[in-house]
Amino acid sequence: MDYKQAKERIEELKEIIRENNEAYYVFDSPKITDFEYDELYRELKRLEEEFPELKTQDSPTQKVGGNIVQGFKEHTHKYRLYSLDNSNNYDDLRKWYERVKKEYPNENDLDLVVELKIDGLSCALSYKDGELIIGATRGNGIIGENITQNIKEIKTIPQKLTKPVNLEVRGEVYMPVTSFERLNEENIEKGLKEFANPRNAAAGSLRQLDSKITAQRDLHFFAYTAISDDKNLFKTHYEGMKLLEELGFETNPNYVLVKGINPVIEKCEYWADERFNLNYATDGMVIKINDLAKQNELGYTSRAPKWATAFKFPPEEVWTKLEGIELSVGKTGAVTPIANLTPIQLAGTTVKRASLHNFDEIKRLGINIGNEVLIKKAAEIIPKVIRKREYEDFGVYSAPDKCPECQTPLIKPEGEVALYCPNTLYCPAQIKGRIEYWASKEAMDIDGIGESIVEKLYNKGLIKDFADLYKLTIDDFMTIDLIKEKSADNLYNAIQASKNPSMTKFLTALSIKFIGKETADIIANEFPTLESIINATYEDLIKIDGIGEKASQSIIDYFKDENNKIILNKLQEYGVNPQGSAFEKTSNTLEGKTFVITGTLSMPRNVFEEKIKKAGGKVSGSVSKKTSYVLAGENPGSKFDKATALGVIILTERDFNLLFEDNN
Ligand code: NAD
Repeated sequence: MDYKQAKERIEELKEIIRENNEAYYVFDSPKITDFEYDELYRELKRLEEEFPELKTQDSPTQKVGGNIVQGFKEHTHKYRLYSLDNSNNYDDLRKWYERVKKEYPNENDLDLVVELKIDGLSCALSYKDGELIIGATRGNGIIGENITQNIKEIKTIPQKLTKPVNLEVRGEVYMPVTSFERLNEENIEKGLKEFANPRNAAAGSLRQLDSKITAQRDLHFFAYTAISDDKNLFKTHYEGMKLLEELGFETNPNYVLVKGINPVIEKCEYWADERFNLNYATDGMVIKINDLAKQNELGYTSRAPKWATAFKFPPEEVWTKLEGIELSVGKTGAVTPIANLTPIQLAGTTVKRASLHNFDEIKRLGINIGNEVLIKKAAEIIPKVIRKREYEDFGVYSAPDKCPECQTPLIKPEGEVALYCPNTLYCPAQIKGRIEYWASKEAMDIDGIGESIVEKLYNKGLIKDFADLYKLTIDDFMTIDLIKEKSADNLYNAIQASKNPSMTKFLTALSIKFIGKETADIIANEFPTLESIINATYEDLIKIDGIGEKASQSIIDYFKDENNKIILNKLQEYGVNPQGSAFEKTSNTLEGKTFVITGTLSMPRNVFEEKIKKAGGKVSGSVSKKTSYVLAGENPGSKFDKATALGVIILTERDFNLLFEDNN
């Protein structure tokens, strides 16, 4: 590129970046993905390095982004706030480390702190004698917005510290992913605009002129830096983090102290995958020199510290083309649309399909085959479609009126979003789906019986329902291509070994509409035998905590149905007998108490469930006013939020154990 072309492109890039900065920082409503933005930004930076005479003071590469929204008072920061330089590859990360190492040639390995880069809104909080006096946004780094009133609405920000110190605390205000999704659902219902991502939802909720609105939003704060004039208070970043915790702040627990660059890269690799299991958004890792004296020596550029850098994860959102919509018929007859996409790389994997949930969702997204769609990697295995390009209009894909498998006209039961094929008995997709599900891990867990083998057994006429699995012989399996004696033997034995499942597994495996594993577990706890479940009335079922109207009716309908009776009789004939509830009561100390478990605990959930049930307590899958306690592990989900909203007592694992000590 010659000088003239570079000049034109630089002007163009500056203009595009400025426009997108405004959409992002002022209106909290980005038009392009962060990845696309970062590409433009890096291109500008590259060109300015190649043609230094074209670099101007007003370039976005020289400034911290962020404007002041009219209506907020300005706040001049005591200590300037910066952005972070970032890279998206390990070579650049190593180069940063080499540059830093040059300044400290005698140190073999420098102490570094690696932590998650929280994708929220950065805030600076000033404390005087331990009292919160000002909360402000970063703004342009020198002047921010005074949002003290709104900051006071965030429960995880202490208004009074445990010690009377003078301190500035920096951190990220964020909205948990589950709360963001709920807020968007509510906004859709009210006909309001959706937020593009949790970061924009947090920023939009915090920068409200009316702090009552902020108070209604589920905002949290992770503190990540402490700044003090008292140089003896802490001498390293790590010590600063510990002090913040002592003073009453929540810090993100995933920060570690390491030496050298290799462990940093290991952490980046680990979190690039693991981030999807967190209930908050993170867009990368931040790497900081631990020693504050060295931080001071290294200093800052006009925009970012030289003593820290960020590694940005591969994008979790990309645009691609919707090539087709595939219709899948599930075990209960629900017809689900799935997006077939032009294959594209997303967060380290090639994506060809994405979830569209149901036909109401397609209508809401306003999409059709041919549209460019933004897809997002989430905790689920299959990514989801977020939106289409605003300017594209291909009309809206219309929902089918017949089952794609058996051509039966579809129905939409009242109060449900899904379309169903009512041909429960004969629709091959439903029959195969139920057999596959019966054998799946979640249900009877029969090793080796998956989609392809079920398809073959069914097509050969060897099985017509899941009960038929138990009459299969080794010879039957050997009639299938590529199955030799050893595998046939294994399949046969695996099926025979599944004849005495727990009641929960058995009930789950029946594919009763609205009865998943959690609900099955609740029912299994109430009724010790299959006979007692079959004889239960609607009234018996509805009074159980955690069992709603739909589930109760569905159970009644299932066991009344003549065809299901035939299958149940067949199962009994083949010797498939569910065991009663797996838990024998050993005390009554938790009688009448209902627990809900959420988040990651130190041991598998069933260990806790067993403990509760043995003491006469109950475990429910959903939080309601009747819930006595929520046992919350790390990264709790929406159940935690609901419990907080309902004022249900929340227990940590430690509290939980104490409760037992008290009770026993
Ligand atoms: P940045 O978000 O890339 O990095 C700096 C910020 O990281 C800090 O200000 C701080 O708030 C935050 N941070 C999170 N966790 C941290 C931790 N543990 N320690 C220290 N800091 C931490 O930079 P930025 O200047 O805030 O914003 C630029 C970025 O914003 C771009 O790279 C892009 O991703 C996004 N952006 C997107 C658009 C768009 O249109 N999509 C427009 C403008 C900016």
